[in-house]
Amino acid sequence: MSDLTFDDPLTGGGIPPADVHHTARPGKIVCIGRNYREHAKELGNEVPTEPLIFLKPSTSVIGDGDAIVLPEQSERVEFEGEVGIVIGDTLARASESDAVRGIRGIVALNDVTARDLQRKDTQFTRAKGFDTFCPIGNVATGARDLTRLTVITRVNDEERQRASTSEMVFPIAMLLSYVSHVMTLEPGDILATGTPAGVGPLAPGDVVEVEVEGLSMVSNPVRSRA
Ligand code: ZN
Repeated sequence: MSDLTFDDPLTGGGIPPADVHHTARPGKIVCIGRNYREHAKELGNEVPTEPLIFLKPSTSVIGDGDAIVLPEQSERVEFEGEVGIVIGDTLARASESDAVRGIRGIVALNDVTARDLQRKDTQFTRAKGFDTFCPIGNVATGARDLTRLTVITRVNDEERQRASTSEMVFPIAMLLSYVSHVMTLEPGDILATGTPAGVGPLAPGDVVEVEVEGLSMVSNPVRSRA
């Protein structure tokens, strides 16, 4: 087994992904910005020379089927389909191989973003921090090649994003190690690994679905604040 695959410490990969649900609220969600070249370009940003880190609050998490609520403060809320990594072991200043061994599983994650507020504020806390702005799917456990995962986003059954983690600027093992040299990652924390090109707006009545192909899925209706 290479450094880029991991064994599930809890189940040994014995539980089918669909039977495992992310019920506990994570302590923190660490996100990576601009980790696919084409997405950095579509927003007019440079491709970063080191990972760009930001946080989403744990209160933004919702599950499969829960509604994404569009806040009155924003005119443009967008989907960002991403591969999420659930931490299994405490990681502090971890090597890449130790970090990969500390993974609990993989989730489909939607880093919902108020794009207008992100531009206006220049930092991301408000734009990405609203309640309901972090749909997370079932946890897929078992050994996987982290460089060969495919993330797909569909809006109203139409495919809008598709990319392989092989296209990332910074690979997942490097990201986990890098983040763990800044802040300790604790069991249940989630790393959102960045979105590929194709992001776009959501409107009331849409249904947005993020899938890590064959592993995890999260589907959410979109509505206005009542
Ligand atoms: Zn994102």
